[in-house]
Amino acid sequence: MNPTFLQTPIDYLKGVGPNRADLLRAELGIHTYQDLIHLFPNRYIDRTRYYTISELERNNADVQVIGKVTSLKMIEGKGRRLVATFKDDSGSMELVWFRGQKWIRESIKLNTVYVIFGKTNYFNGSFSMPHPEMELLADHEKSLRSAMQPVYPSTEKLSNKGITNKVVNTLMQTLFLEAKSHLHETLSKPIMESLKLMPKREALLNIHFPQSQADLARAQYRLKFEEFFYIQLQLAFKNRMHKTKIKGYPFKNIGEHFNTFYNEHLPFELTGAQKRVLKEIRADLGSNAQMNRLLQGDVGSGKTIVALLSMLIALDNGFQACLMAPTEILSVQHYHGLVELCKPLNTSISLLTGSTKASDRRIIHEQLENGELKILIGTHALLEDKVKFKNLGLAIIDEQHRFGVKQRSKLWHKNEYPPHVLVMTATPIPRTLAMTVYGDLDVSVIDELPPGRKSIKTVHRYDANRLKVFAFIRDEIKKGRQVYIVYPLIQESEAMDYKDLMDGYESISREFPLPDYQISIVHGKMKTADKDYEMQRFIKGETQIMVATTVIEVGVNVPNASVMIIESAERFGLSQLHQLRGRVGRGAEQSYCILMTSFKLSSDSKTRLETMTRTNDGFEIAEVDLKLRGPGDITGTQQSGALHLKIGDIIRDNDILKIARSYAWGVVKDDPAFAKAENQIIRFMYAQMVKFKNIWSFIS
Ligand code: ADP
Ligand code: MG
Repeated sequence: MNPTFLQTPIDYLKGVGPNRADLLRAELGIHTYQDLIHLFPNRYIDRTRYYTISELERNNADVQVIGKVTSLKMIEGKGRRLVATFKDDSGSMELVWFRGQKWIRESIKLNTVYVIFGKTNYFNGSFSMPHPEMELLADHEKSLRSAMQPVYPSTEKLSNKGITNKVVNTLMQTLFLEAKSHLHETLSKPIMESLKLMPKREALLNIHFPQSQADLARAQYRLKFEEFFYIQLQLAFKNRMHKTKIKGYPFKNIGEHFNTFYNEHLPFELTGAQKRVLKEIRADLGSNAQMNRLLQGDVGSGKTIVALLSMLIALDNGFQACLMAPTEILSVQHYHGLVELCKPLNTSISLLTGSTKASDRRIIHEQLENGELKILIGTHALLEDKVKFKNLGLAIIDEQHRFGVKQRSKLWHKNEYPPHVLVMTATPIPRTLAMTVYGDLDVSVIDELPPGRKSIKTVHRYDANRLKVFAFIRDEIKKGRQVYIVYPLIQESEAMDYKDLMDGYESISREFPLPDYQISIVHGKMKTADKDYEMQRFIKGETQIMVATTVIEVGVNVPNASVMIIESAERFGLSQLHQLRGRVGRGAEQSYCILMTSFKLSSDSKTRLETMTRTNDGFEIAEVDLKLRGPGDITGTQQSGALHLKIGDIIRDNDILKIARSYAWGVVKDDPAFAKAENQIIRFMYAQMVKFKNIWSFIS
């Protein structure tokens, strides 16, 4: 191999001067030959067909036409432009340039046969083509360019400065002629053979100059596989290192706390999924490695009890445990819930949040340090440096997407060795995506709801039907149920949103007047104490209606609330709608979710509403959400953007990802040092990857 050749700076390529080199670096991050050869086309245009001018249609397809430029003229004034008359045997059309006229004027050959290519406009009975790509027929026939014309990623600046798709294409040809003998295989023989993959050199050739649809498909498959394979290889390697190198505290005992609670005080039989997940956690805790696990479970799937049982294992081994939640309301609720559950056990639990009084705080700090306090529940107040544990063995984070990786790592340093970490999330993300994004976390899933849950009936209603909805609310309240009414609160339109919320509150107060009805209101501008007071009134059943912004989104548990009304539902994202809906359906009663919208709906909004009314399955909803928004936007998965995929698509190419994953993890398991002869290529690639931090910027 000749690694240095492909690391040649792009400036040295024929056709790339210093200006172009700067542009390529700045706009596309192309520094070397290696980078350019891995600039993959976004799409391909089928240029197998040539149109005559009389055959042109009024559509927006790219077409190519063979003909001659018969005249050129400048049209001055507003919209100054250069116009060429272009003719073939069937008729004539215009070619138009708004920029770069001087250069075009000088370089165009009149009455010579060209192949032009581009989109057409239709005006006053004739066609025109702005800024066509042009090539002399003679060159066109000679060129390496294939029928499937690649379209490369570009920017406005690049096209304005004349680095058109055609220019990139030409550079690619030049590069290929020079670099061909330097393109070596990058996957091991057993993998190539077992999957019958296209060799690397051939794949690169076909990705840039595909000769047929079939060759292109094979080339893409091979390159996508390679991209996923090496990302997964890194993850697998990291995961293995973690397991072998990062020492954890082995919790060898399942003792009194756990056994007493499990055998005598468990309020219900665990679901199969809860048992399975608990087993996975126990195995982690009992090993010598630190646990670093993501627990996914839809809203209401029963993550809390799993958290408690895990904490009891920590206690049985002489360690402390903590549980961190993203909001005050949630922490308080966890605290009360866990105190209740732990009543029969001899243990100590405290709550620490931003509003804990200084005097209480002092006691908590002291008891934490001397080990009297066993379980600490709270908000991110737990992360403060002042909060020191005697012996923290397990840290649980609820509702992960509100916390970042940084917070996780802060918890790591609360003890000499990092405590075991369990991250719980109710935002279901598809499993393979989770494994890709949280590569360093092991994933457990609770994919089963506790028995006896009635599925929530979800309907979509227009604002015009509000009176009927009010009548429905009245009926439910008469039956003794409680109702949430939620308003959107988006940062950009905060003032308007607060106005909508207050207007809504007023009209609901009129519709449901005192003394028959009591209404709570909770929103972000209220003082924490007031929020808690209102929330507690609703939890205790003193109020029947809770008017709120999305502050109640996560975790709140009021089993008697059976109706969730979401105002301006078209403004919420899918995962948010699903989270909100999860606030009801927690008791034995039939629950309802009513999505209120205006008549005006975008097609994405329609898809979201249709999905919500069709299914209660969080994973299905997550898949749709992913398709609508792309992986980068999904809550908690922003890191997927950091993968910088060049050709693979986590969603669309999920099947390839799965195969690549299983091969990569297989290699690491079978030959973790990459010592076998067949794995030398992989060993070399891995070393390069670590060096260059990017899988395509090392040598082929
Ligand atoms: P989440 O996963 O959303 O945090 P919770 O842990 O709050 O869910 O559980 C939701 C409700 O279901 C709680 O009221 C809890 O007591 C109850 N629950 C949990 N597991 C079971 C089970 N196996 N059987 C019956 N009810 C359960
Ligand atoms: Mg929860």
